[in-house]
Amino acid sequence: MLNTTATPYHDAGVLYANTDFSQLNWIELQWASWYLWIGNPVLATGLASFLLHECVYFGRALPWIFIDATPYFRKWKLQPNKIPTASEQWACTKQVLFSHFTVELPVIWLFHPVAEFFGMSTWQVPLPSWVAIAPQVFLFFVFEDMFHYFAHQALHWGPLYKHVHKIHHQYPAPFGLAAEYAHPAEVFILGTGTILGPILYCMFRHDLHIFTVYIWITLRLFQAIDSHSGYDFPWSLQHWLPFWSGAEHHDFHHMAFVNNFSTSFRWCDRLFGTDTKYRAYRARLEAAKKAGMSAEEYARMEIRLNEEAEREGVAAEKKAENSDFAGAWHKTKVQ
Ligand SMILES: [Zn+2]
Ligand SMILES: [Zn+2]
Repeated sequence: MLNTTATPYHDAGVLYANTDFSQLNWIELQWASWYLWIGNPVLATGLASFLLHECVYFGRALPWIFIDATPYFRKWKLQPNKIPTASEQWACTKQVLFSHFTVELPVIWLFHPVAEFFGMSTWQVPLPSWVAIAPQVFLFFVFEDMFHYFAHQALHWGPLYKHVHKIHHQYPAPFGLAAEYAHPAEVFILGTGTILGPILYCMFRHDLHIFTVYIWITLRLFQAIDSHSGYDFPWSLQHWLPFWSGAEHHDFHHMAFVNNFSTSFRWCDRLFGTDTKYRAYRARLEAAKKAGMSAEEYARMEIRLNEEAEREGVAAEKKAENSDFAGAWHKTKVQ
């Protein structure tokens, strides 16, 4: 009988036949152990990729659930009068899980054979050094941010908004779990920006390890969840890196519906002028702070400005929903 498990492709033991385990560090030993334990490298990579995504996503969302349930943190909430309820968080979790198993699981599973085809390493040890990892991850951040900026603007176009992106805008005051709360088509479209960078890198450079991709995915998930958290702390990253978007930037997009289409960085919105309303809003808040208002007066003023921005957002959303081919054609006829 043909023993398919003895071929190098299926048997992790054969893959590591010439590996000197005494030269490996702790992480590398764990890496090889995982592949040896599962036995089949295709299954081991697919499982690790999906488990990593689930553990990081829900693991990172957990502290935000705790923070939302703790009044002490309210003073740093960007929309202080909008705290997500437990039932909202549960409804969001169910939709996110549905997307994870129907869209993300097959895409995650398909990613590594495609990337491997273009030269990505998976089971191989030793793992790349931090010096090799850091610039690659930075490149993926820049690529994803630009991809997302244009794809997100396209999702605000009438038909795509009405049938796809509207789901993600269900929460004008987002929370951590809502980062991937979206139509499955949106998860697919915007997820492309996350995995296309590593695939293109493999195609042109042929020297990428999936370990680097895991670091990229982990940081990207942290970025996505944190930017939906609804909190801006004095120690948030955007106060240290002024070009980092953070929650303060993306929360405005959910509240006001317009402006701030990028994910990680502020430069695309600044460059293409899609942050003017946002900057005017921040300037008004800053001016109020400088005017020496009391904490209560400032809080009232902030809520008033937020309500104003949200009202304008509702009108802008209606306008976007009606801006389809038929609408454009009708306008030309009338003129
Ligand atoms: Zn949007
Ligand atoms: Zn969002």
